[in-house]
Amino acid sequence: MQYEVVIGLEIHAQLKTESKVFCGCKTIYGNSPNSQTCPICLGMPGTLPVLNEKVIEFAAKAGLALECKIRLNSRTARKNYFYPDLSKGYQISQYDEPMCEFGKIEIFSGEDRAKVLGITRIHIEEDSGKSVHGFGDKTAVDFNRCGTGLIEIVSEPDMRSPEEARAYLVKLKQILEYLEVSDCNMEEGSLRVDANISLRPFGQKELGTKTEMKNMNSFRAVEKALYSEIERQGKVLDNGGEIQQVTMLWNENLNQARVMRTKEDAHDYRYFPEPDLLPIEITEGYLADIKSQLPELPDAKMRRFSADYKLGKEAISTLVLDKNWSAWFEEVVQAGSDPVEASKWVTVEVLRVIKERLISIDEFPISPLKLSQLIKEIEKDSISKQAGKKVFDHMLDDHSDVSLIIEKLGLKQVSDTRNLEVIIRDIKEKYSTEVSRFQNGESKLLGFFMGQVMKESQGKANPKIIAPLIQKIIGD
Ligand SMILES: [Zn+2]
Repeated sequence: MQYEVVIGLEIHAQLKTESKVFCGCKTIYGNSPNSQTCPICLGMPGTLPVLNEKVIEFAAKAGLALECKIRLNSRTARKNYFYPDLSKGYQISQYDEPMCEFGKIEIFSGEDRAKVLGITRIHIEEDSGKSVHGFGDKTAVDFNRCGTGLIEIVSEPDMRSPEEARAYLVKLKQILEYLEVSDCNMEEGSLRVDANISLRPFGQKELGTKTEMKNMNSFRAVEKALYSEIERQGKVLDNGGEIQQVTMLWNENLNQARVMRTKEDAHDYRYFPEPDLLPIEITEGYLADIKSQLPELPDAKMRRFSADYKLGKEAISTLVLDKNWSAWFEEVVQAGSDPVEASKWVTVEVLRVIKERLISIDEFPISPLKLSQLIKEIEKDSISKQAGKKVFDHMLDDHSDVSLIIEKLGLKQVSDTRNLEVIIRDIKEKYSTEVSRFQNGESKLLGFFMGQVMKESQGKANPKIIAPLIQKIIGD
């Protein structure tokens, strides 16, 4: 039987604040275990939390960028559960009055169709610590992460395929990176994805029983885990079975999920208002201020790149994927390059090197100005496009002037017609059969003669000049 797939995602994004959400401890990733802790984030009795204002600012930024309604009065709540890496026995989160609600995000799925997905809520909370296994039969706990500020972004169950879930994730990550509120590094766990999946017969309004999938550490893993769970649920339903509401853990190595626990409902956590913190109050003026600080977001940038630079869709979506890439591209354009040529160089050659060398665009060895100089040399025909790529590769390790490198490599195009005329006359004598065929109207032989001229000139002849010269000398 065919079922309609219903997916909703819960994303935890670790906030890029310097200190934790309720204490002054640092939030640096990878420091030695338990070196970034204090009595507050260790959950000692008698300590009191103090809210880090930066967390409110970052949550408000995310809320505004995702077009949420922001609550001027929200409050924190205790979510009670026991876990070794959360020594307080509860997590400070938000429950019935989250900071942001009713947002939306636009994605493109399949055939370039735009689809708007709902954001249910965004709330702030604190992260737990980390259990570290691999000490024989013992497990250690690292509390460095405990108390780091998070936002949880909950989507509506609006996605209808794993591809849409992936498109949502890509877009959300892009927006959070533009806002600089999170590193969004899935491997380091600063962006964590939980997916709720259910199936229902087409046409049925009511949602089927859902399962929750955790522990997917890459976009690919999310897609694979969702496909696997959709298939599993389909088989259970086809055989007349019922779906159990469970939480599952994805195992990337085994390519399969296992049940972690039967799912708790919200009431199992016995949420109650956090008595140690005041309600969070923000003003319209504060929000207006934050709104004015928001950077240009991906959708707006895409529209501008299309209108101002007349770039194709593919080039735009590649450039806009990372705001530093698009800024770098714009510097090349500002240095005087044609935007379409500049976009080709950046999306193909520059990104190729960045991926090969595992560097960021800030570390790219050629400056935007130098690249634009190279593009100009090609535009004015002093070198061919092909030679331009050789010069580019050379420029990665040689910081001399572009014109000097062209000289050094001996790639300057020959536009001097006297030299070329001599070459063409030689060819005319050498290939008499081809010459008479050409003169009798076999015009496709032009390519053959051009090839010969290129060969004789070691690729340095300017094609724009040799074509008419061949017509003139051989054609008559
Ligand atoms: Zn602390």
